[in-house]
Amino acid sequence: GLSLVPLAGKPQNRKEYTSDQEVRWCPGCGDYAVLAAVQGMLPTLGLRRENIAFISGIGCSSRFPYYLDTYGMHSIHGRAPSIATGLAVSRPDLSVWVVTGDGDALSIGGNHLMHALRRNVNMTILLFNNRIYGLTKGQYSPTSTPGKVTKSTPAGSIDHAFNPVSLALGAEASFVARTVDSDRAHLTSVLLAAAQHRGTSLVEIYQNCPIFNDDAFAAEKTPQGVLRLEHGQPVTAGDWAVVEEGGRLSLSPLAGAAPIIHDAQAPDPSRAFALSRLAGGMTPVGIFRQVERPAYDDEARAQVATAISSRGRGDLDSLLRGPD
Ligand code: SF4
Ligand code: MG
Repeated sequence: GLSLVPLAGKPQNRKEYTSDQEVRWCPGCGDYAVLAAVQGMLPTLGLRRENIAFISGIGCSSRFPYYLDTYGMHSIHGRAPSIATGLAVSRPDLSVWVVTGDGDALSIGGNHLMHALRRNVNMTILLFNNRIYGLTKGQYSPTSTPGKVTKSTPAGSIDHAFNPVSLALGAEASFVARTVDSDRAHLTSVLLAAAQHRGTSLVEIYQNCPIFNDDAFAAEKTPQGVLRLEHGQPVTAGDWAVVEEGGRLSLSPLAGAAPIIHDAQAPDPSRAFALSRLAGGMTPVGIFRQVERPAYDDEARAQVATAISSRGRGDLDSLLRGPD
């Protein structure tokens, strides 16, 4: 979320957000498309580059900060949300971003992700999901589908996979969205909405890894494979509609159906959760949830301001000691 002084003067362009570092992802990696979309979107925020920080963990996607001409930190495995929390609390003048992958965010970093989401720290988390460990050359991850044969699951994965959108909604994250690397316009619009949201925004990006898990999202790259969610609009795609019967959501032929109306602003996340679990071969993409609730860093700073106004500004010791 943004609360910064807008940039005065000449408009920025994508080039100003492109660093001089050589991009070292494999040819054809979906990460390139996400980088291009982010570099194209950042200038439209009207912020100073020095007021933007990208914090990553470990993995292929975590090389992201090198390629952006903003501040950034390639940090430690799974801990980017915690480092970003410290930054967001202490520096309200920054737009704070986290770049992570399915292994980084959901395996070693699951704990850190979950608590950032529940606290609603003011940051935007981009979760690149390729359903594999790419950097370490192709082991199964927490989002790999059951039965997946990889180097570390030669007889097929027996793990039940995480659905990152369901997970974030279960933690009552205030902004939860899903998009696909190959759809530039959709990706850009979701990134922009996530950046402008105050609180934690979680954006799951289906990202192709052509080397170790090619075409994991082949279905979602066809118009028949996705169901676009638009707030206030009926949930339909082509000849199909999402209907509710007996408290359950299902796909139904559009003719004669009464589609549900998508409400991303519903205080109760239950229906968004049901949408994230929709069966039937179509994947909902778009903004599942976008609600207002107090941001952790705003509340933490307010407590510090209250302490200073009642006790006077002093060193940390005198603040902690309280009034004499
Ligand atoms: Fe991209 Fe996969 Fe190569 Fe990593 S291993 S850079 S995710 S293509
Ligand atoms: Mg991965």
